[in-house]
Amino acid sequence: MRQNPSPRPDQGPPSGGRRRGPGLRLWVLLLFAGYGIYYWVSNQTDDPVTGQRVLIDRSLSVDDEKALGLQAYEEILSQERPVDPATPVAQEIRGIADRLIAKVDDVEAALASEHGMQPTRFSESFDWEVNVIDSQEANAFCLPGGKMAVYTGLVPVAQNEDALAVVMGHEIAHALLRHGAQRMAQQRLSQVGQMAGALSGMDPQQQQMVMAAMGYGYLLPYARKHETEADEVGLMLAAAACFDPQEAIPLWERMGEASGGQAPPEFSSTHPNPGTRIQNLQALMPKAMAYRERFCEEAM
Ligand SMILES: [Zn+2]
Repeated sequence: MRQNPSPRPDQGPPSGGRRRGPGLRLWVLLLFAGYGIYYWVSNQTDDPVTGQRVLIDRSLSVDDEKALGLQAYEEILSQERPVDPATPVAQEIRGIADRLIAKVDDVEAALASEHGMQPTRFSESFDWEVNVIDSQEANAFCLPGGKMAVYTGLVPVAQNEDALAVVMGHEIAHALLRHGAQRMAQQRLSQVGQMAGALSGMDPQQQQMVMAAMGYGYLLPYARKHETEADEVGLMLAAAACFDPQEAIPLWERMGEASGGQAPPEFSSTHPNPGTRIQNLQALMPKAMAYRERFCEEAM
């Protein structure tokens, strides 16, 4: 077969034909970069609780987020073994959750005012619910919309209500700070990057390298930042609800030992290294004690 059909008289030198490839690739990359920047800029919003500018898709309403949370919750509960709500452990967990939830508005308002802002009261429409799941895992979660679960495996590691409140406060904070919605927006951005890479003709190995670099350089630090934020807001919630925030330190030490290499996702990869986390918590302790004095009626 003939590789090069005889050139037509009006065709330029062969290199002219080849130059069209990189040109198109550049346009595709520019187009996607432009969309990525537009998406990033147009979906920035201020979080009064942390005082940070965050990326949350404006087209994702609070109701959408709640619906997603509820759907995930029902799926998890249907796959796991929820404990009878009448059992002492379920009642104890519910009691802790109720105390924490009762302080959400106060703590949000106090943290927002530290940044000179008004709280969004995003959780006003939450339908709070907590279930205990029979499992060996030392884990807990709170989904958008206020649907929470505590795994029975957490109880012996926590050892006391104060430590349970620290973990549950941390989980509630993830939902209040809309970390799930932020992760969704980041995933959207990385999908845009992935598509740009594929369409621009990057080879799969190059694409993988770029994605890995993005994971380590952007997504993982972001996830760690979320954990640090949840630690702070959760600690303030626990303190305001009259729990002892100092229990956070031995708790995370025990969590580190209990996880022994095979920690559940929530408490492993994305979490700050235990030493750093404990240092951060120690630095927050005076503030937590002040929140306890201010909001816990028993402490007065
Ligand atoms: Zn977390």
